Amino acid sequence: MIKSEIDRRVNGETKIMGVLGNPIEHSISPQIHNTISKLLCVNSIYVPFLCSQEDLEKAVNGLRALNIYGFNVTIPYKEKIISLLDECSEEVKLIGAANTVVNKKGRLIGYNTDGDGFATSFENSTNKSFVDKDIIVLGAGGAARATALKTAKMGAKTITLVNRTVIKAAEIADMINNNTSCKAVPVSNSDKNLAKLLEKSDIIINTTPVGMHPDTNKCPIQEDITFSSRQIVYDLIYNPSETLLLKKARKEGALTINGLGMLIYQATLAYEIINEIDIPEQILKKIFLSFTNFDK
Ligand code: NAP
Repeated sequence: MIKSEIDRRVNGETKIMGVLGNPIEHSISPQIHNTISKLLCVNSIYVPFLCSQEDLEKAVNGLRALNIYGFNVTIPYKEKIISLLDECSEEVKLIGAANTVVNKKGRLIGYNTDGDGFATSFENSTNKSFVDKDIIVLGAGGAARATALKTAKMGAKTITLVNRTVIKAAEIADMINNNTSCKAVPVSNSDKNLAKLLEKSDIIINTTPVGMHPDTNKCPIQEDITFSSRQIVYDLIYNPSETLLLKKARKEGALTINGLGMLIYQATLAYEIINEIDIPEQILKKIFLSFTNFDK
């Protein structure tokens, strides 16, 4: 009998993991998780779970009933999943979104690895920390909540949350001011002092989708704002690999980083939580290198 790789890897004891979302076709999580399992010789398989809004509750109960080992959650269910879980980490409660779910004997427990994935990628790319830094976060959605909370917990001095819907920025600022020693303030993205705030900040993090494929000619800030070589600009977008924001910042001397590292590290951290293992450093490096040339 001819055995394909999938025949060799999947048997009656194979643990099933996956990613729940809609759309899901674009996700590279299956490639990342299946590559880790292969490198670590873990008997598991990771598949996409496409699910409509109306079927979300049924799908989650189905995943529980089928003893799915664990799963990731992506757009648009990171917030909606919470009410369907049995337990959530403190971080999930503060962020209001979960991207990782572990099935512990039928109890579904939610975690969020976006903040840690972001911080790991930032530190590995810059060798710098957030301690005493003045940080600007553009956007006030789920990714902004996760990255702002993480940088605040890791010692940021101030965080300015810039958003077109300023009330959402104010909610995140309250959450940070009530739970960390960092001082957070909300600002409208049409505020007349925005240019000055951006220019004197140490780190700028774009968490809006502005500039993402296919709208690659868009930028989340005014074109006349200038950057300097003491600044770091991190764009959570990874497609394209260099957004208009990053191109402008790099040309003006800032250190620039795209969101691919965050994407990879949030996945490897989720893998560690679901499988209760530490991925060895050399395997993490291998994973990182094999996916950093990814550009759709
Ligand atoms: P979200 O919850 O929908 O939040 C999006 C935020 O961007 C909102 O604050 C929204 O403002 C703002 N925004 C959207 N369109 C805008 C526009 N045209 N002009 C100005 N502001 C705009 O989304 P999310 O889950 O936080 O994700 C945000 C981005 O981060 C996406 O591009 C996503 O792909 C990326 N992301 C990357 C990673 C990674 O691993 N690299 C992980 C998570 C997310 P309003 O509040 O006014 O609507």
